[in-house]
Amino acid sequence: MWEYAPAPESRDIANLKPSYRMFVDGEFVEGNGEPLKTVNPATEEVLAEVSTADKNDVDRAVKAARRAYDRVWGKMPGAERAKYIYRIARMMAERSRELAVLESLDNGKPIKEARDVDVPTASAHFFYHAGWADKLEYAGLGPDPKPLGVAGQVIPWNFPLLMAAWKIAPALACGNTVVLKPAETTPLTALVLAEIIQQAELPPGVVNIIPGAGDVGAELTTHAGVDKVAFTGSTDVGKLIQRSLAGSGKKLTLELGGKAANVVFDDAPLDQAVEGIVNGIFFNQGHVCCAGSRLLVQESIAEEFLAKLQARIATLRIGDPLDKNTDVGAINSSEQLHRITELVATGEEEGAEKWVSPCPLPDKGFFFAPTVFSGVSQAMRIAREEIFGPVLSVLTFRTPDEAVAKANNTPYGLSAGIWTDKGSRILWMADQLRAGVVWANTFNRFDPTAPFGGYQESGFGREGGRVGLEAYLDV
Ligand code: NDP
Repeated sequence: MWEYAPAPESRDIANLKPSYRMFVDGEFVEGNGEPLKTVNPATEEVLAEVSTADKNDVDRAVKAARRAYDRVWGKMPGAERAKYIYRIARMMAERSRELAVLESLDNGKPIKEARDVDVPTASAHFFYHAGWADKLEYAGLGPDPKPLGVAGQVIPWNFPLLMAAWKIAPALACGNTVVLKPAETTPLTALVLAEIIQQAELPPGVVNIIPGAGDVGAELTTHAGVDKVAFTGSTDVGKLIQRSLAGSGKKLTLELGGKAANVVFDDAPLDQAVEGIVNGIFFNQGHVCCAGSRLLVQESIAEEFLAKLQARIATLRIGDPLDKNTDVGAINSSEQLHRITELVATGEEEGAEKWVSPCPLPDKGFFFAPTVFSGVSQAMRIAREEIFGPVLSVLTFRTPDEAVAKANNTPYGLSAGIWTDKGSRILWMADQLRAGVVWANTFNRFDPTAPFGGYQESGFGREGGRVGLEAYLDV
């Protein structure tokens, strides 16, 4: 075993302030809700106090967005809108180190992921969508696509900045204005994005960011002045929103949970597959809607593969998210840690065999060691429910048909992975799998040009790519 010396990134780079305010009508203003304290999940220390919105603040933000839509943004030529969006993308790239450190502090994710994935991909979403702003009539979605108006957007805590970019960039490119509610436990990077938006001189009211808890999300999504709702989060809240919007005429897209199958055939390059499985479930502590949380491995190689997998997982370094060597960071909140612990306990009660990485865990903070369950049957809760943590459930199959049947035996349908040497098998499997994204011999690859979204209880609508524009256009 190699001993790694610590390689910590400096937290000073985050430019952390003692307090943050919401962003409405181009200004940072005090909200009238109960202020919240955002916590570093790796140390449990309070990072900052953040003002939150109440019902009247939501109304104020929606009205500001409406004014900005009617007076400026809705009428602005696409080429002009693009200049602002490019500016935001460039400024995000310029402040990428600060954003990455702040994201790691507020969320608990390893700095190497915030630095190499979250922030560059968020900036890339603005770059990509800026390019569409003056070409919407050539997107193949109709000859004269029009914006929808005001978009009310609610995002989760697992990719705070990236989800804000996924939501805001296409909305702006299509000529809509935005009111966005970040998650209660991770509001900071969205508020720095608000600073960037202000410095980019976006007209006041085009983007409004209002922190708060679920009640603020509910107020926003049901507000009569909102024309389009975009939500990413749990399936339960997604269903609640869909019910509350029924009959309102609001356009809705939902990106919800998942229980993806990562299917490994006996002809797969096994070492490469091991890396893909590890990335599929331990990236971002498994707080990923499309995480490959069910490993389906062909029975003939199951024993050998599991041994390789455990040997690799045992080398993962868990700890200080700001250390550049850290592979698995902190669980985002004590609530989430509790949820993971509870579901893992059901796995043991239901008879699955639990293996836990022998890694040392820090004394403070919310941490959970990478865990693998083998001998899992399809009826167990750990095979059916989204754990949203660093926990892998391993099932086996004998034939491709059985692999497809098991992979599709889920109420979700967000993503899937296939590991095999045969191109024809990849195409056949991809055709059979009911999932919005199917990766072959790779996993968790994100690109703004590729649409992302689910089937069944994983939601509907697509984000990213040409197809994703449709969610923000009247075509
Ligand atoms: P939620 O679905 O509750 O949170 C997502 C966002 O919705 C947050 O901004 C939340 O606010 C907001 N929200 C909560 N209630 C409402 C409401 N009634 N109307 C509108 N917005 C609302 O997820 P949790 O954070 O509670 O996580 C619970 C579980 O959900 C996790 O364990 C995981 O399994 C799953 N999950 C899945 C995600 C995915 O991308 N697939 C993302 C996040 C969670 P607030 O921050 O205050 O809660």
